[in-house]
Amino acid sequence: MKIALIAHDEKKDDLLRFIDKHMDFFRNQILYATGTTGGRIIKHTGLDVKRCKSGPLGGDQEIGAMVANNTIDCIIFFRDPLTAQPHEPDVSALLRLSDVYDVPLATNEGTAEAVLYHLSHKDRG
Ligand code: PGA
Repeated sequence: MKIALIAHDEKKDDLLRFIDKHMDFFRNQILYATGTTGGRIIKHTGLDVKRCKSGPLGGDQEIGAMVANNTIDCIIFFRDPLTAQPHEPDVSALLRLSDVYDVPLATNEGTAEAVLYHLSHKDRG
């Protein structure tokens, strides 16, 4: 499965902990990430992550383009609801495209747990 990983700055540590917790799942997926998030994941876990540009420099839009081309199966995007983001329009556009193309997108850890549980069990019938 092709999974995109994004975390705003205040949520990057939470995403790293989440990946650690689900390492058996993530090591068997094809991973994409926005630039800084991807760099942190590679440094922290050694996983192979294909990095897009940093979010504020167009990375969210790059992932949106992958969604529009049906090359992403799931997005885990730990958003920071308490800090204004200069690239909020790009974030909204990515959320919109995930709805257009019906791609599961988790914006917090609780939803990400539910999505991962579903993805890891759906092929077992
Ligand atoms: P970053 O981008 O991984 O480059 O920090 C994430 C974002 O803010 O969208």
